[in-house]
Amino acid sequence: MVLTIFNTLTEKKDEVRPRDSETFRMFVCGPTVQDNVHLGHAKTYIAFDVLARWLAKKGVKVFFVVNVTDIDDKIFDRARNENVPYTAISDRFFNEFLSDMKSLNITTFSRIETVSNYLEKSVELVQDLVAKNKAYTLDGNTYFDTTTAAHFGKLSHQTPLQLRMKQVDAAPGKRNGVDFLLWRKIVDTQEGVWDSSLGPGRPGWHIQDSAIAFSLFKGPYDLHGGATELIFPHHEAEIAQNEGISSIVPFVSIWMHTGLLLKNHEKMSKSLGNVVKIVDALKNSNPNLIRIYFLRRHYRESFDLDLKSLAGNQKDLDIIQEASKISKRNASTGEDEEYMASFGKAMDDDLDTPKALSILLDLSKKIVDASKSSVEVPAELQKAFWGMADTLGFNLA
Ligand SMILES: [Zn+2]
Repeated sequence: MVLTIFNTLTEKKDEVRPRDSETFRMFVCGPTVQDNVHLGHAKTYIAFDVLARWLAKKGVKVFFVVNVTDIDDKIFDRARNENVPYTAISDRFFNEFLSDMKSLNITTFSRIETVSNYLEKSVELVQDLVAKNKAYTLDGNTYFDTTTAAHFGKLSHQTPLQLRMKQVDAAPGKRNGVDFLLWRKIVDTQEGVWDSSLGPGRPGWHIQDSAIAFSLFKGPYDLHGGATELIFPHHEAEIAQNEGISSIVPFVSIWMHTGLLLKNHEKMSKSLGNVVKIVDALKNSNPNLIRIYFLRRHYRESFDLDLKSLAGNQKDLDIIQEASKISKRNASTGEDEEYMASFGKAMDDDLDTPKALSILLDLSKKIVDASKSSVEVPAELQKAFWGMADTLGFNLA
């Protein structure tokens, strides 16, 4: 069976295969390290962690890159308010991010790259776009000219008319409303201003991902992911940049997006002040409970956080935990084929984790019931238990 993932670009489930080599190369947008990450981030990164685990289980080598934005106005503002160097803020929350990911058993990232290490590459890419007449400078800022991109709007499925109504990085004199910043001029002598051939300033948000992708992947890659809120303008801009620089279309094969975690029907975000931080959620819950809660819903769904129903998964988690104590991980047999086939069918269908989880629960009950009635649990079932539990990312002692 071949894994299929819903591709925002083609609006259908596309086959997932490494395109140029044996290694599957994926990039997921990471956080801005201005504060602790929240349960919305957990929802996203658990989905991509499960994708990487499932690919690895299928024998695919995965190179999974996550970027962390460590230079951003929000970080500089916080540093000024707290009267500390900005690196005190970015280092602190970078480490907190690592620790939250570890707590949630999100272990599949191959590389976590900070944007500040890719300034030169960002400048180089912007200069390349300027040389190709795909970017222009206005008052010291450099913008991408979106009319030079073939089919700008193809990811967010917007018509030229719809795009004409949009404003991105609004500034007087731009050629088109949706032209986005590649390099932002900053003149005051505050921290975090880099002097470059483009003038003093900072790279725009979108070029940062391209700089990391071009540096690490060296060419086109297989999958780029994030939450749906990043489709426009962020990912749309990335496509324009990547394809403008390389002339390779598509530069990224699959664009995979996770639905949002809402709170009282609004997006959970720091700016709305309605976040539940992972570190706080873990005080009254545990990582396996959070994982089961998100796996119960399909990753593309957006839904309201309901802490009561999160806690309501305890019974199911107890059964999984009980089965884990009975099952031997290193039994010297193969995994039960029937169970693994139905589990695999669900996972291959755009990561149908609600179905996959129900199969794991069904097997867990079977194992627990057998053990209660003193029937020996076949080794193949024990192995299948671990095959599924590890793929879904449960951390069971
Ligand atoms: Zn990004």
